[in-house]
This record gives sequence, structure tokens and C-alpha cells, in this order.
Amino acid sequence: MALEEYKAKRDFRQTREPVAKPGKAHRRPIFVVQEHHARRLHYDLRLEADGVLKSWAVPKQPSMDPTLKRLAVEVEDHPLSYATFKGKIPEGQYGAGMVKIWDHGTYENVMASKPQQLTVSESIDAGHVEFTLHGRKLRGTFALVRMHGQPQGKKNWLLIKMKDQFARPESDGAGQPPQPMKSDSPEKPSGGRISRLTPTPPANRVGFSNLDKLMYPDAGTTKGDVLMYYARIATRLLPFLRDRPATLERLPDGLRGSNASHFWQKNTPASYPSWIPRAALPSGQGKTVNYVLVNDPEVLLYLVNQGTLTFHVWLSRMKHLDRPDFVLFDLDRGSASFDDVVAVAKELHRLLEDQDIDAYVKTSGKSGLHVLVPWHEDGGYGQARSWAESVAHNLVNTLREKATIERSKAKRGSRVYVDVMQNAKGLHVVPPYVLRAVPGAPVSTPLRWNEVTAALDPAEFTLKTIFRRLARQKRDPMANLL
Ligand code: MN
Repeated sequence: MALEEYKAKRDFRQTREPVAKPGKAHRRPIFVVQEHHARRLHYDLRLEADGVLKSWAVPKQPSMDPTLKRLAVEVEDHPLSYATFKGKIPEGQYGAGMVKIWDHGTYENVMASKPQQLTVSESIDAGHVEFTLHGRKLRGTFALVRMHGQPQGKKNWLLIKMKDQFARPESDGAGQPPQPMKSDSPEKPSGGRISRLTPTPPANRVGFSNLDKLMYPDAGTTKGDVLMYYARIATRLLPFLRDRPATLERLPDGLRGSNASHFWQKNTPASYPSWIPRAALPSGQGKTVNYVLVNDPEVLLYLVNQGTLTFHVWLSRMKHLDRPDFVLFDLDRGSASFDDVVAVAKELHRLLEDQDIDAYVKTSGKSGLHVLVPWHEDGGYGQARSWAESVAHNLVNTLREKATIERSKAKRGSRVYVDVMQNAKGLHVVPPYVLRAVPGAPVSTPLRWNEVTAALDPAEFTLKTIFRRLARQKRDPMANLL
């Protein structure tokens, strides 16, 4: 159990706080909020998980008002027996001051009933926990959301009351009998529900609609699920979208057979709100295209609500539009076996390693693999593509039976097509972590190179499974690409 830090901070000859022994799990997990009159008064929120109390220090009293977001600083795990601790921690000891039990009870892990079925610990790793408290003061569903954009190692979260029948405005004060609160505004037809899904701060300007519409009928995945997915993946995805002209792959009615509307949108309609950032760039035909820039979660979710399933982006950013910052080798399976795709990817990796060049691999989200290489040279698209072509030539020369750079589909046969033609200004590529518009709601998923084996099955990485995988990862395998 992770109680070493708890132990190290305390001298148990001086304090009456419980010793650091892991406890037996309760049949229903418990929570406690301790009012702690330390140097600064704060409220310690603790949730039972994995035999310990996961803990956050909340500087202001937790609120039942969904419009108030409370800072919650993650602190060390406490032993289960700490839940009943009250009394004085002596002067000179860690956390010196009076501790009172402010509220306690049992709770339910809401994340366990979502498609991803995360445990509390997995949800904490993923930076998003939802739980329903059965206390005397705190009742109904709350979210803890790790704050974005903070340096690694910082442990700041937000504690937010979700809208439900227990929510009420702050002026009513805590501890009063619960009163219902209006949750739906006219522009948010099912606003109550989506606010449960996206408690992160910026979602205020975005109204969501048709949350129950089936976007992936085969997987039973609704538009609400897709919005939830993009809300949760935003921290990982946005670094790969930010400041890149984007093309939207829109399926407003989802994947409902061959006659469902499915189109690529480059130009941002004038009807979109003015706060959606646009980059006006000349098109090849002497016209101007207003590309959207997906720079924050609010823009991302607005576009998803418009029926965008996949975001495609340029290889360059606004600052240097003529110079890509990475190069893509798209290993297109065609009618080749997936084993051959794996063999070609590994050989490409070996070729690049021989030249001391970093390479990153991900599933395309369909049947192929993408190998991405950072481009640090001063040269622009032309130079980047020539380099990629020469690497592809070498690759095909070593694997003549399995790989080809033949542009004609008929002449490729059952060989893997090594496509480097997308490395050009104005063309777009599939960034990591986007959903693909094919059955099963697959995700273009970064891999470690040792996962690239014949046993790899790209179809395993979907909207429903990806967060379990991410919860196990300490860091993004592709973090160093940019
Ligand atoms: Mn404390």
C-alpha cells in the first residue's frame, strides 16, 4: 500500500493519528470530510479505494452549488482508520491543529457504470473521477477533475458538484435540506446530462444537443458518449491539434449505412460563433479558406457537437506554415496481411534507429500503422518529403516482397503501401487520439515499439477501452514527438 509518505511525515510517538496500516475494504466504500484547523483552515476530502483513503485538501468548504468550483490539492494516501480520527494534532507535528469530522458516509463510484468502467484508482490516474456521496451535508454526484496545463508533479484538482436533485445555490448554505435546482436552459436541450459529462471549466458557451443519437450503431455509441470521449481525451489530444489548420470529418447522423451524410469540411461556416478561431489561408484555386484552429476544449466540443467525428490536421503550425514539424510514414495495409504491416513498421524503425532518428508509432485507427518522425530541419515541406521518399525507397529495397511505393493500387498487389505523399503543404493527416469514422469507434492510438508484434490488434483500441490503457501509462508514448 502506498502509505510510505503518510508514515514518513508523522512521528507516531507524538501524534494520536492512526498508524500506517492498510485496512479491510468496507462493503460499501466510505468517504469522510475532516475540518482541519491547521495553520490554514481547510477540509480534507477522503475516498476509500484499494484499502486506503485517497485524499485531497480543499481550502474552501465543499459546496453543493454546481457553479462553484473548489480547488482540491491531492495529498498523500491515508490509512482507512483515519476516517474516524478527530482531535488535536500536537504543536510542532505535521498538520498541527484540531481535526473535526465535518461529514461522512458511503459513496458510489460513478465511473464504474460508464462505458469505460474505471475503478476509482484508474479514474484518479486518468484525471477525472465522478462519485455519488451519501453524507449528511454532501449528497449526490460530485466530480474531481485534474486541472489542465499544469507542470508535471503539480496536484491541483477541481471539486465540482454535478447538477442533480441535490444541487442547490450556495446562498442556501451547506447542511440545509436539499432543494431541486433547474438544470436545463433553453439552448441546451439535454444540458443536465452533458454537464455531468464535461465538468471541465470551459464548457460554458457550448450547448449540446441530441445526446442520445446513435453515432456508432454497431457499438451502441451515442453522441453523448462521443462528447464524453473528446472531453476526457482533450488533455492528450489538444497538443496535436493546437495551431494547426484543421479539416473536420463530419457525420452529423453518425454511421447509419451508406446514405448517411459524411463529408470533409475545410472552410468554417460564417454561422459558427465568432469565438471559434479561424485561419484565413489561400486555397490552391485563388480562394480563401477559413480553417478552424482547435486550440482549447471548448472549441473541440463545439465541433464535436456539430457532428465532427475525426479531426485531420496539417503537419505544420501557424508560426511556420511552410515547415512541417513532423513527417508521416503511412503504412497502408490494402490487401496485405497485418503481419506484413508489422514487419514493414519494424524494418522502418530499424532503418531510422540506424541513423539515430527518433520514430513514434500509432495505429491509424483503421487497419494500418502510422510512423511519425519529428522534423527539426530548417527545410520546408519539399525537403521533408524528399527525405521521406528516400527512406521509403530504402525500406522497399530491403522488403521487396512486402512493401511498395507504387501509387497505382492495381500494381501494389498484396504489398503494404508506404505512403509519404501526405507530407505536403495543405494536406492533412490523422493525429493521435482521434476517433475514426468506421464501425467500432476505434481510436488512433500511440503504441510502444515493443507492442508492435503479430499479436497486435488495432481494433482493440476504441472509445470504450482506451481510458483503461491510458490510466496505466505514466506518460504519453508520443509526448516527445512535438
Ligand atoms: Mn489536512
